[in-house]
Amino acid sequence: MMNNCIFCSIAGGSLPSMKVFDDEHTLAFMDTAGDVDGHILVIPKKHAKNILDCGEEELSYLMKTVKKVALHLVEKCGYSGVNLLNASDESAGQSVPHFHIHIIPRKNGDNIDAWPHFEGAVHETEDIFRKISMI
Ligand code: AMP
Repeated sequence: MMNNCIFCSIAGGSLPSMKVFDDEHTLAFMDTAGDVDGHILVIPKKHAKNILDCGEEELSYLMKTVKKVALHLVEKCGYSGVNLLNASDESAGQSVPHFHIHIIPRKNGDNIDAWPHFEGAVHETEDIFRKISMI
């Protein structure tokens, strides 16, 4: 539990949230932005800033819960798919510094624009590839 962390407060129950799923290691709750129908956040209860410092075990619990919630949305709530979104680090647009995966439930023809419209690469793909290949 981190002091002054809004999602730690939600996980600990001192801040209210609309809980969708709750277990020992993870919590899923409604994003209150009101920006898209069914916007859900899934968090590890143990504080990590993002995927870069999250422990392997917490990460695997988190992804299991993401799958549980996604399956619930599709099997029980009338959705047919999901977008999963995550920003890890401020450079990537992370605004709340407690690891969270956004789930956006989707239906055919829902007209939700959940995919970024990239402006076009600046460098040749092969040049970047040579820099980042791990093999
Ligand atoms: P990100 O920009 O990926 O860090 O996303 C942070 C998300 O947290 C935003 O979508 C906010 O709407 C959401 N958010 C911030 N505070 C709360 C809160 N108290 N309850 C639910 N969602 C929140």
